[in-house]
Amino acid sequence: MSSQLVEPDVEQVEKKSKKPSTSHLKVVPETRELRDKIRAEIAKFATTLDRKNTFTKAELQVFSEQLLTSMGLGFQYTGFTSVCIANEFWREQVQATDFSRRLLLMPHCLKHAEGCPADYDEFGLDCRKCGACSVADFKTRAEDLGYKVLVSEGTPIVLKIIVSGHVDAIVGVACLNVLEKALDKILLAGVPCVAVPLLSSNCKSTSVDEDWVMEFINLKTPAPATVTRSYMHLMRASHQICEEPELSRLCPPSRSGANTRAEDPLSVHEKLAYNWLGKGGKRSRPFITLAVYDALKGGAGTLNAESINISDAVKRSALAIEAFHKASLIHDDIEDDDNFRYGSETMHRQQGVPVAINVGDYLVGLGYRLAAKDRAELGSDVSADILFKLSDAHVKLSEGQGAELLWRNSTDKNITPLEALRIYALKTSPAFEAALYAGVRLAGPADAYEKMIGEFAKNLGIAFQILNDLGDFDTNSENKVVAGQDVLAGRPTVLLAMALETATPAQKEEILGLLQRARKGDSSFQLVERIHQLYQLNEVFSKGQKLVEKFRARAEAIADEVDSEDFRRLLYFLVDSVLEKFEAPQQAEPLSLIQLGKV
Ligand code: SF4
Repeated sequence: MSSQLVEPDVEQVEKKSKKPSTSHLKVVPETRELRDKIRAEIAKFATTLDRKNTFTKAELQVFSEQLLTSMGLGFQYTGFTSVCIANEFWREQVQATDFSRRLLLMPHCLKHAEGCPADYDEFGLDCRKCGACSVADFKTRAEDLGYKVLVSEGTPIVLKIIVSGHVDAIVGVACLNVLEKALDKILLAGVPCVAVPLLSSNCKSTSVDEDWVMEFINLKTPAPATVTRSYMHLMRASHQICEEPELSRLCPPSRSGANTRAEDPLSVHEKLAYNWLGKGGKRSRPFITLAVYDALKGGAGTLNAESINISDAVKRSALAIEAFHKASLIHDDIEDDDNFRYGSETMHRQQGVPVAINVGDYLVGLGYRLAAKDRAELGSDVSADILFKLSDAHVKLSEGQGAELLWRNSTDKNITPLEALRIYALKTSPAFEAALYAGVRLAGPADAYEKMIGEFAKNLGIAFQILNDLGDFDTNSENKVVAGQDVLAGRPTVLLAMALETATPAQKEEILGLLQRARKGDSSFQLVERIHQLYQLNEVFSKGQKLVEKFRARAEAIADEVDSEDFRRLLYFLVDSVLEKFEAPQQAEPLSLIQLGKV
């Protein structure tokens, strides 16, 4: 094969990236000979790749199809080929990473299904190394070299481990279904990763090319000349500023010093607020502010952690946005009477409503204090512009939430999709807008970007909220232990609005009746299940997914118009990372894993 045949075709890539196909096929080549042949061609092809920046899954798909066409092979191997191209893209950077900074991630389905004596703990499968399957061999070799090892799977776990700062590269084994989901996020975030696909996706006693896994585990060479830009460093920075000791360094507590009595009420209250501020979550809002600022200042923070050049004043502004967000969660949980947040009881369940309201108020005040603190360094016009945007977001969020609460109290439960979307635009988008705006304004004048930011945030926020609604029927999504909470709480979701729009008169009457029953306290499984059925009959879930894609496409079209390549790339990354599909962690509970510092 001529390497020219598979030179990346940029025009095709651009067309594909506008309309990413979701239908590529995931067959692992049946023979070892064919797998090796494809890998060998990819090794040649990879010499043409520009490794300065990551590429998207759509780009990968085009490269894979070009390569398969040039080899006379069918597109059923597109998924396998994409994984192999990604492997070659990252190989040098994985093999330059110290063994002690690598994670070996294996799926539990590799175990010998019938006789495996291993138990599961919060970190996944605790392999006893009985020798009945290859897990023991891989684990032993990797641990001897200094790797951290997990027998678990799922992209959310991987990303949480990465942002925790304990590992810098991943060697993975997974089925093509899992790898396909992971590719987008891992490629876009710029996490060095190589993976070996399982030979089948049947989830039981699976097998893999074992020598290939060993080859990847043993990779070790000096650092390559080109290091791919990565958001990993800025993701870590956004986590760091929200956690101790950085949190107290940027925003020193004033009531809980060394000489304060532990039971002093001022100290206790302050600690409650700081603990809540430092608790869980993706830190996506402070990340947005830091990453936008970095992108408009040249993108040095995407090269490595040492190149991040962000002042404490900028970090405090990002922290302010997290404080507002955390305050709004406390108040939302009270208003919705939610029981759980970040896998544990909500603030008002733990402390009672009056204390929770007050902690929320404290965090609002702390946010404004943080945003205004560095006005002398940032310039009073910059601080005033950011404060205005924050206060504007605060008003809009309250409007959206207020409209939702009043609708819930009303007896007329009719709502149109347009009315629901208008509430979404107020409830969710302003926080994204404020985080984006703060990053832009901290980097310089914002006039050229202000309109774009508002439109982008609106589309992103609406898509995010619809995804949340779809996740409400997923018992495994981050905060949910019970499905159908939106229905039971009587929230005016766009799913409900779409169901009411197309329901037959009898179905509509039934839906409204079920909502009335929920309003009177019926939280039975049967009620939620029936609503679920009625939603399905009206194809609400597929329509919701289509709406998510529509608003995603709009956000991407807005990003396309941005001149700064670093900023545009970041906006695309935000679309992909914020609009992450809800995925059920399979075994380990990721938050506890990180919080315990075991990896
Ligand atoms: S080697 Fe480990 S994972 Fe495999 S069967 Fe034995 S205990 Fe289970």
